[in-house]
Amino acid sequence: MPRPGFPRSIIDFQERFATEEACREYLFASRWPEGFRCRRCGGEELGELHSRRLVWQCKGCGAQTSVTAGTVMHGTRQPLRLWFWAAYLVATHHPGISAVQLQRRLSIRRHETAWMMLHKLRAAMVSPEREPLKGEIEADEFFLGGYEEGLKGGRRRGIKTLVGVAVEIRGRGSGRLRLQVLPDASGDSLDAFVKATTAAGAIVHTDGWSGYNGLRKLGYDHRPRSQRAQPGEQLLPRAHRAVSNLKAWLHGTHRWASPQHLPAYLDEYVFRHNRRGTPHAAFQTLLGLGARHQPVTYRQIIDRAA
Ligand SMILES: [Zn+2]
Repeated sequence: MPRPGFPRSIIDFQERFATEEACREYLFASRWPEGFRCRRCGGEELGELHSRRLVWQCKGCGAQTSVTAGTVMHGTRQPLRLWFWAAYLVATHHPGISAVQLQRRLSIRRHETAWMMLHKLRAAMVSPEREPLKGEIEADEFFLGGYEEGLKGGRRRGIKTLVGVAVEIRGRGSGRLRLQVLPDASGDSLDAFVKATTAAGAIVHTDGWSGYNGLRKLGYDHRPRSQRAQPGEQLLPRAHRAVSNLKAWLHGTHRWASPQHLPAYLDEYVFRHNRRGTPHAAFQTLLGLGARHQPVTYRQIIDRAA
């Protein structure tokens, strides 16, 4: 069975996933793109045990597998079609979608259901096995939040939140992006940020701030540029573009992000940015099909939203 393709349009999507069975087959093909092979006995014959519980059984040894195990849909009472539509809307609606919008678009009766689905899908936006940035990178730090939006940020931590930005240079454009809340702009914090986001050996462009002076020791090809080197030219154009786009998105979609919600919004923004050209990957990641990470529990969602 080939790896399942992805619908190109909303009409394709509707036709492709019109029934529960079509969704079930897609899950099956995502789990076993090369066809079923039992992990215990190597058997290749399979029987469906419970179509509603989405459980399959190996005919050789009787081992059972649920096709929703490890996905956001595991243990759900909602139809698969509803999950597929919700993931599609969240993946393709670039500004992001609210629980109210999701509820209306999909005629979900209870607001709590829409809210929970949205939060489960959003939780998948933090991918645990993130590939570090590679090649050539721009790194910088900036302040977010507060009512001082227009003010030039200094290096002091005030009521605003300090955020690190790292972005790959791809020709004249930008590659993948990382954003992370920083405790301060000290050398330790900036070292930790670059280490967490960027592969060793990468070329890292920064401004002339002394906090970046430790990067060379960490094995990076550090290329600081003085603020006054070339007047009129922007020092780190891709980092600056990413930051201004982020600010516009935060303002337009979330109005104002309080410090405790900011990390989740940064994750969402990075997710959308890094998958802007690959809706299929976004859709699969949201449903938990690609990465095999633990599905989140209700408790984790509540704790996170608090
Ligand atoms: Zn088996």
